[in-house]
Amino acid sequence: MHELSIAESLIKIIGEEMAKHGLTKLHTVKIVYGQISAVVPEALETSFEMLTLNTPFAGARMECEARPMVVRCRECGKEFSPSHEERLIMPCPGCGTEFGHEIISGRELFIENIEAE
Ligand SMILES: [Zn+2]
Repeated sequence: MHELSIAESLIKIIGEEMAKHGLTKLHTVKIVYGQISAVVPEALETSFEMLTLNTPFAGARMECEARPMVVRCRECGKEFSPSHEERLIMPCPGCGTEFGHEIISGRELFIENIEAE
């Protein structure tokens, strides 16, 4: 379960950020993940809960928000978000080209916001 190691690194980064700003109590952390980043948000939230038990972060909430995948057509350069069903072939709404597009976003995983005091 790779969510566990992702949660571990997130907690480490959050801890460093909070220390930098002299914050001690974590309320909420908002995570943004790409649709094709292979992250299971429920697993990530559970891992976060498990790892923060009996730590100063206990009780903090993790919110995960999915970012759609965006690709750029290799023929006409149009950027679009293929729907979930079209993941294997992704017809371009501009010219109909079905594959070979460049993936612009959808693989990312980052902390968007930390609420702490
Ligand atoms: Zn196109």
